[in-house]
Amino acid sequence: MSKTQVALFLGGDTHRSPTLGFGWGREGHEVVALIAGQNMSPAALKRARAILGGASLEQVANWADEYQHDHRETGPWHYIDIPLSDSKIDMAHDCPNRQCVTAHTEHFLSVLKDPNAAPATKAEALKFVIHFVGDLHQPLHDEDDGDKGGNDRHLARCSAWRPTFYPPSKDSEAPPAML
Ligand SMILES: [Zn+2]
Repeated sequence: MSKTQVALFLGGDTHRSPTLGFGWGREGHEVVALIAGQNMSPAALKRARAILGGASLEQVANWADEYQHDHRETGPWHYIDIPLSDSKIDMAHDCPNRQCVTAHTEHFLSVLKDPNAAPATKAEALKFVIHFVGDLHQPLHDEDDGDKGGNDRHLARCSAWRPTFYPPSKDSEAPPAML
């Protein structure tokens, strides 16, 4: 199995899809948020829930993808196209005008640290950060091999007896065991 195929199995990329934005699928983002919560101190978790108006991390884990439907300008905030052949990030090239997941995660973390930020602004910033940490850990949200982060490739997976071909936009329909 090639590196790209492995990456596709780990999580196809739909961040450029006009209709879908669920690279991990909803469950994947919720699992990332659950793991984050389990690794936070009780005090930090309590503070995060207070910022979120009582909601849990997993309850808001997909908010940024839902928000993107009516705020298309936020689409590029969910990924960064680092050429697959590069060994390190070049922000000027890979994140033009700071419109990428790396820059926006940094931005929203700075909002959370700002003592003068309004509660609603902090709540929105935390929802973006919770989601973007999930996006940052999706291989195809972070690389590009001249294929729009994997969107131009098709995923082949084997069912019981025959291979089934899925375009990357269908990755969220893959069985959880495949992800
Ligand atoms: Zn996303």
